[in-house]
Amino acid sequence: MNDAPVLSNLAVIDAAHHIHPFSDMKELNAKGTRIIERAEGVFIYDSTGKKYLDAFAGLWCVNVGYGRKSIAEAAYAQMQELPYYNSFFGTTTPPATLLAQKIAAHTGGNLNRVFFTNSGSEATDTWFRIARVYWKALGKMEKTQVIARRNGYHGSTVAGASLGGMKLMHEQGNLPIQGVHHIGQPYWYAEGGDLSPAEFGLKVARELEAKIDELGEDRVAAFVAEPIQGAGGVIIPPETYWPEISRICKARNILLVSDEVICGFGRLGNWFGYQHYGVEPDLAPIAKGLSSGYLPIGGVLVSDRVAEVMLDEVGEFFHGFTYSGHPVCAAAALENIRIIEEEGLVERVRDDIGPYFAQAWKSLEGHEVVGQAESVGLIGGLQLAADKSTRRRYAKPDDIGTLVRNHCVENGLIMRATGDRMLASPALTISHAEVDEVIGKLRQALDHLRDTVRE
Ligand SMILES: *Cc1c(COP(=O)(O)O)cnc(C)c1O
Repeated sequence: MNDAPVLSNLAVIDAAHHIHPFSDMKELNAKGTRIIERAEGVFIYDSTGKKYLDAFAGLWCVNVGYGRKSIAEAAYAQMQELPYYNSFFGTTTPPATLLAQKIAAHTGGNLNRVFFTNSGSEATDTWFRIARVYWKALGKMEKTQVIARRNGYHGSTVAGASLGGMKLMHEQGNLPIQGVHHIGQPYWYAEGGDLSPAEFGLKVARELEAKIDELGEDRVAAFVAEPIQGAGGVIIPPETYWPEISRICKARNILLVSDEVICGFGRLGNWFGYQHYGVEPDLAPIAKGLSSGYLPIGGVLVSDRVAEVMLDEVGEFFHGFTYSGHPVCAAAALENIRIIEEEGLVERVRDDIGPYFAQAWKSLEGHEVVGQAESVGLIGGLQLAADKSTRRRYAKPDDIGTLVRNHCVENGLIMRATGDRMLASPALTISHAEVDEVIGKLRQALDHLRDTVRE
């Protein structure tokens, strides 16, 4: 008797036993899940043998591409040497400590310490607690409120979903929790009206100032934002936005938190997204590209300003995870960063493949159904439009995005859609020819939209 399941039954088994994240399980089980079996470079292969170009780097994370044997070997070696030890009771492991040093070396000066977590969501919970502990230690007992943005994404724990500005997540979970407030997002195409992008960038940034006034400066602990909103649809803010946010946080003595979970580790052509926009955060959650997704690990970068108070005034910080600084995950992350350094992937994004991708992506703006195609480094957002001359959008944005995305996937290209925006975030190792393939297949999907939907 061989009772090992045969592969063709995996979808049936999956339907019986596996609940997927962010999925309508009734719908998914009816059509059967896609099973991804292997990957190499920027390509993934499913259980039918079909090959796809993954223009999304898994879930924004496989920055060094698939199939890196040296990361597997680093994890294997560490697992044999020391598979686990914690960092709670006056101990650490070599990879955790060396990883903290390695990350600090790339932050640009003032963020010299890291608190490790297993994910971006846990990093969100962690900085949220640090921000409150920080102000309490300074005697500002009332400074507990946090301001975030509509349509931001900061993870899926209770704190993460609260800080995120996703309406459906809030409604389902009786969120946000107390002490979390939201302001608008710098989404000019949809919300900018008659303002120029520069004017609109200032206007939405100043909503922060208004919200601080409304709540009272002495009650606001922090403001959090992604340098570029990822899950919200790759919303690239006007150039005026970040300098104004930074100015307001400084003037009002509010901690600035830059959520670097997607933008960190090279995606924008800098080590961190805040460097692209020339601002300096007080706290910065990281995850995804930290290990290129090979193993789960995240953390929070802590600035000297905050660390000094944490170290000198707080005493014990009652917070931590069993796997904070897990040595095997840390070893994989160290090797991942070594690859990024050795292959010059950050510089490659800034000087070579980023500009190449930008030009190719921008060329799609000529298409009838494209309102705007913007990118920074290797992250792109493409706005679909029913009438580009008036910025009029399709009546059912979700259906339109899904239509284009499904066409891409059928055609062997993994892209994501958020509403009526198409998102790309490929591995930093993608070649010029592979970028051409992404653009070619996306163009075919856009043709399909143009030919099938008339509004
Ligand atoms: C993915 C993501 C998170 C959450 O990270 P998880 O590892 O999924 O918990 C937080 N912030 C941003 C910007 C993200 O994209």
